[in-house]
Parts: sequence; C-alpha cells; structure tokens
Amino acid sequence: MTTTGKVILKQGRARPLWFGHPWVYANAVARAEGKPEPGDVVSLVDHDGRFIGRGFYNPRSQIPVRLCTRADEAVDAAFFRRRVAEARAVRARLGLPSERTTVYRLINSEGDDLPGLVVDVYADTAVAQITTLGISAQRAAIYDALEAELGVTTIFEIAPASYAELEGFAAGSRVARGQSRATVDVLEEGIRLEVEPLSGQKTGMFIDQRETRARVGGLARGARVLDLYAYAGGFSLAAARGGAASVTAVDSSARAVSRTLAHAEKNGVTIDAVEADAFRFLETVTPRSFDLLVVDPPKFARARKDLDAARKGYERLNALAMQAAAPGAVLVTCSCSQNVDAETFERIVAAGAKQSGREVRVFERRGPAADHLMPPGFTEGQYLKVLLCYLV
Ligand code: SAH
Repeated sequence: MTTTGKVILKQGRARPLWFGHPWVYANAVARAEGKPEPGDVVSLVDHDGRFIGRGFYNPRSQIPVRLCTRADEAVDAAFFRRRVAEARAVRARLGLPSERTTVYRLINSEGDDLPGLVVDVYADTAVAQITTLGISAQRAAIYDALEAELGVTTIFEIAPASYAELEGFAAGSRVARGQSRATVDVLEEGIRLEVEPLSGQKTGMFIDQRETRARVGGLARGARVLDLYAYAGGFSLAAARGGAASVTAVDSSARAVSRTLAHAEKNGVTIDAVEADAFRFLETVTPRSFDLLVVDPPKFARARKDLDAARKGYERLNALAMQAAAPGAVLVTCSCSQNVDAETFERIVAAGAKQSGREVRVFERRGPAADHLMPPGFTEGQYLKVLLCYLV
C-alpha cells in the first residue's frame, strides 16, 4: 500500500467534500500525482493543495476516490481496528446487539467511513460484502479487526460480480475465516430466524427493515394481513406475533416460501405462504379483503434509464394493493430504488391512489433501521423509503 499518491481536485469542486460528502466524481479530478495504483490509499487535496482526507483510489471507476478518513493518519491494520471498534460502540449506543436482537449491521459503508464495505453480524458470524477494490485490497486486515473486536467464529465474504467487474477484483462468495456453516440461528426482536448467509439474498437477510417489521407487528392485532414480497417471512412473522387474525405471505421464490413456512413453525405461528408473482396474486385476490398490507418489492429502477418503467410499475403495484385493502386498512409501501427519491415515491403512491379510486392518508414516513447510518447530505446512499398509509 502506498500513501504517497495524491489526487488533486479541480478548482471549485471541493465544497461537498468539505461538508462531509465522501465521494469524488471523475469529472472533479484535476490530476493524480505520485503514480498511485488502483486500490491504493491516496491523499485528497483541493486545488490550492489543502489536505481534505484519505481514501481508496480506483481510476477505472466513475468515483475514483472514496474517502475513509478526514485525518492525516495511516490507513493500516490499527486504522481498521479503530474503525471496527468505533462501529461497534455506535451500535452498542443504539442498543445492538441485545437479548432480543442478535442480528444487526455493524458496518454500513460510507456511514462508517469504510466505503465499499458492509458487515452484517449474525450472532457469532459476520458476513462482509465487498464492493470496492480498495476494501478488497485491505480485507485481510479487516477480517483480523473483526476477529479481534467481535470474537466471531466465522467470517463469510461476499463479492458481488456486478461491483467486482466494475472495480476490477475477483467476484465470489466464500468462507474467509473459521468454519463454514450453511445456516446461522439469530433473533430479531425475539423472533427466531434461521439465516443462510451464502445461499440467501443479500448477506442473508434484509436487516434494514427491522424497525419497520416491529412497527408492523404493533399494527397487526386482529388484522387480516397480506405480506407481498415476503422473502423469508420477516413482516409476516412480526404480524403473526403481533396478534394478526390471519397472515398471507407472497413471494415468487420457492426457496423464500419454504423459509417462511419453516420460520412460522419455529416460532409457533401460522402463516399461509404462497409462491406467486405479486402482481398476478393481486389481480385475482378478493377486493377489500385485507386490513394490513405490506408491499416490499425489489428495486424496480436499477439505473436512471429504468426510471419511467419503474414509476409505472410502482404505481400499478400500489393501485392493486389499495384495491385489495378493506376500508380502514393500513398500507405499508416501500421502495428501495435509490433512483426514486422520497418525493417521487410519494407522488407515485398518490397516482396509485387515483388509479385505484381510493382515498389515502400518509401517517408515517420511514427509512432504514438505525444501524444503517449515513453521512448527512449523501443522497447517493439514501435508497429505502417506507410510507405508512391509512385507507379511508
Ligand atoms: N420483505 C422482505 C424482503 C423482501 S426482498 C423482508 O422483510 O425480509 C424482495 C423479495 O421479493 C425477494 O424475496 C424476492 O424473491 C421477491 N420477488 C421478486 N420478484 C417478485 C415478484 N414478481 N413477485 C413476488 N415476489 C418477488
């Protein structure tokens, strides 16, 4: 690793970085000095040579520098040890982990000053997801720090192909430290879950919805609940635990449906799990037959060019869900497309209301759970929007 490399910004392009934005876009770079290699740590300076911070360099990327520190410090083993210890202290301050919750996000990329690294903790197991070359180059030091600070027995590594190709490192999933295992038992708000870190989606679970799942549990008493895009049944389990009259979970993945049924049994609750496309299911369901509906689809807008199609998809989906809602129902509707901002999503839900002929009132706006920290003003990192609506 070299820290002699230096990236100099163009005049007038340093302002967001002084205000805590962690990314340098390619069109803001004047030049690099000291011949830094892709993946190296470089110093970032403004046009007048003032030191801004240090970060990971990758000239192949549209974001050639991602800052990991604002201090004039070495990015070495001790640095990663401090970062992990800080991240752990923040989660402890937020009450994580606890007796009731043993699964949480320990490191949230830019939110923990480690751009390109997500670490989710599942009880005694950590799952590291790597999306930048700079983090990939440092991963041995990062795993040392995780072992030392957390005492985890297994560390899984996930390097998604899409990022690996873009950044130039090897893709794949593997056991990085300790014993491999197919499943890990965890608790979320007292609910027992069996997670498959290597064969599940994401790092095994969608941890970002933890607090909203708990909120749904609190709204479920006596309700006929429909959980669309249920994955392993997170919202369904919370609703069943919260006293729902009935729970229907819909997912197009057979694996997800069987996970949901296994989770229901493990927790002593009844869930009707259906393998179906959510749109098809809604088109055939009895109108006005559910009192609490959760709509948590995968990203519809992967890129800016998908925005129009995504908008139409979300609008139609919300309209269909509203038609399935009984008078006085609650609709919990989500979008995890970073390209659809909060205002746009709210307009889409309004359009869905118009299309379905239902009157809708928003009573709560939510985002990811507290362990998913982000720097203020870093809109690139804001993806999850959740609206809680009352249907007249
Ligand atoms: N609500 C879940 C997370 C949902 S992730 C939780 O709290 O854990 C999105 C889910 O949508 C995935 O499980 C995926 O299998 C499912 N999915 C994708 N396309 C679908 C479709 N067309 N119809 C139904 N489910 C779909």
